[in-house]
Amino acid sequence: MPNHYPSGALVAPDPASSVLLDELIRAGVSFDVSTSTRAEHARDWWPRLIPDVASGHVENWPGVVVRTHSTSDVSATLRVAQDHRVGVTAQGGRSGVGGGAVPTPGSIALDLTGLREVIALDATSSTVRVQVGVFGPDLERFVRALGYTVGHLPQSFDLATVGGWIACRGAGQYSNRYGKIEDMVRALTVVLAGGEVVVLGGHGPRQAVGPDLLQLFIGSEGTLGIITEATLLVHALAPSEQRGAFSFVSFVKAWRRVGESFNVTRTRRYFASTTKPSPGETSTSKDARSSCSTRAIHSSLKPP
Ligand SMILES: Cc1cc2nc3c(=O)[nH]c(=O)nc-3n(C[C@H](O)[C@H](O)[C@H](O)COP(=O)(O)OP(=O)(O)OC[C@H]3O[C@@H](n4cnc5c(N)ncnc54)[C@H](O)[C@@H]3O)c2cc1C
Repeated sequence: MPNHYPSGALVAPDPASSVLLDELIRAGVSFDVSTSTRAEHARDWWPRLIPDVASGHVENWPGVVVRTHSTSDVSATLRVAQDHRVGVTAQGGRSGVGGGAVPTPGSIALDLTGLREVIALDATSSTVRVQVGVFGPDLERFVRALGYTVGHLPQSFDLATVGGWIACRGAGQYSNRYGKIEDMVRALTVVLAGGEVVVLGGHGPRQAVGPDLLQLFIGSEGTLGIITEATLLVHALAPSEQRGAFSFVSFVKAWRRVGESFNVTRTRRYFASTTKPSPGETSTSKDARSSCSTRAIHSSLKPP
């Protein structure tokens, strides 16, 4: 978090009712009603709330912070919340900048960062199954050790969780190469408001049957359900990586050139994914493909 509350400055309203807390105990979930924890979970990186922190002002005190470690914890919490008509706000890394993770006063702040297991990488399908509280660096470390990358690198990489990437329909610095998060998700486990658990999508790299319900939850910011597990595509690590910087004389020129290079990246991906010529195809058509893509790449990478 960008700044801290002054010590001793916080005066908290009463926490959630003892009836609700007793129910949470019976449901077997762990929670915290301390002033400091409730204050921390009252905010994300929404710029409007950040100046308040220095003065010890908390606008939206949650009644309780529930710490989850499994899909069944999330399910049990949502059942209790529904029975008691109490609101629930999903919270990942709380790096969102629009206040989406800020709870409504008196509600349950549902901390999902305890769901922190990378379950398995399936090399045959090029997918990784992961719990949603895993932070970017931990996921990349796991897949890179096996020769892969997820390729989702938002500027908030260190601060944000997989669940937050999906719930916010996030983009990263390499999205024009690997796609945005909605291009990467292959399956989701979601807990609905009444505590029902649904599994959407499949664990293979591609789906060919039925409507794509995954897209309903991607970008839904916790309003339609709480995502607890995801299967994401992974890509073989590039054999080498090279970075460069270009300067431009004007913003407009830079903007145009980025647009051109984005089109070329797509062209490059198209040619990379096109199957090799079948025995019936002539070598001329193969040559035409490669020379066309090479020309396009060269022309886009000319210095400005
Ligand atoms: C310095 C900085 C740089 C940033 N750069 C980028 C960037 O390059 N690209 C980008 O896309 N974003 C960026 N962001 C915004 C933010 O980091 C992303 O939106 C991130 O994906 C949020 O993840 P989080 O785990 O912090 O989610 P949170 O902030 O905790 O939650 C965000 C929203 O998702 C909901 N939510 C969280 N987890 C779940 C879940 N498991 N199930 C259902 N709903 C859930 C919350 O209720 C809330 O509405 C940046 C933010 C900062 C502060």
